[in-house]
Amino acid sequence: MKARKCLVAANWKMHKTVEEAVNFVKELQEKLPFREDREAMIAPPFTALSAVRAVLHRKDIFLGAQNCHWEDKGAFTGEISPMMLADIGCSYVILGHSERRHIFCETDEVVNKKVLAVLKKGLIPVLCVGEKLEEREAGKTFDVVKDQLKRGLNGVGKEEASRIVIAYEPVWAIGTGRTAKPHQAQEVHIFIRNVLAELYDNALASSTRILYGGSVKPENVDELMAEQDIDGLLVGGASLEVDSFCRIVSYRAL
Ligand code: PEP
Repeated sequence: MKARKCLVAANWKMHKTVEEAVNFVKELQEKLPFREDREAMIAPPFTALSAVRAVLHRKDIFLGAQNCHWEDKGAFTGEISPMMLADIGCSYVILGHSERRHIFCETDEVVNKKVLAVLKKGLIPVLCVGEKLEEREAGKTFDVVKDQLKRGLNGVGKEEASRIVIAYEPVWAIGTGRTAKPHQAQEVHIFIRNVLAELYDNALASSTRILYGGSVKPENVDELMAEQDIDGLLVGGASLEVDSFCRIVSYRAL
């Protein structure tokens, strides 16, 4: 049994029509065995949030968004606010995903504004951090991750920080088929826990859920989840098929 309740999140990115999203969730609710020690989160595109919410009835499956703006409302063409996400029934918001950081040039300062705004609305941020390949090769993984954490959590008090989920996603492993070896992920997860202890305290560090993301699939999930400090997963490609996602949530304890 894991020390923390496991969370497996599906990040669908820019995939699935409303009909496809609804059918997926209906099928998932039928196929996924209920387990006391784990929960799932589905982050469909914004266009499908409402329809997915309408069919979601399981208490162990939550709705998440893939991004948001930091203001509640205003002249921000094309943006969606935390207030709108709370209104629609979202529980989680993925923030600082590497695609947001690198394709859409989001800085740690922007990510931090979003983290604060999301917490203010009672939603749970899934704060993504992770190094690029050249940073890993230059031995900078820990510095990069620490910096992203410190900046992303700037101004977040202990009580609010206790609700946050962190996702460690090495950029070189996202969508590349190249998974971090379980021990590589584990050592960064422990490091993240230590940074949280430095920023807050040991109790918060040991209760925070830290997910791993980067080419997770049915074939590698069991060995990843066997690591003590991996409390769940953020899954892209392999979350698009029901059977594959079901198998990942139903990882087997080794
Ligand atoms: C992701 O998008 O967060 C991700 C980890 O993608 P993939 O599983 O496809 O590598």
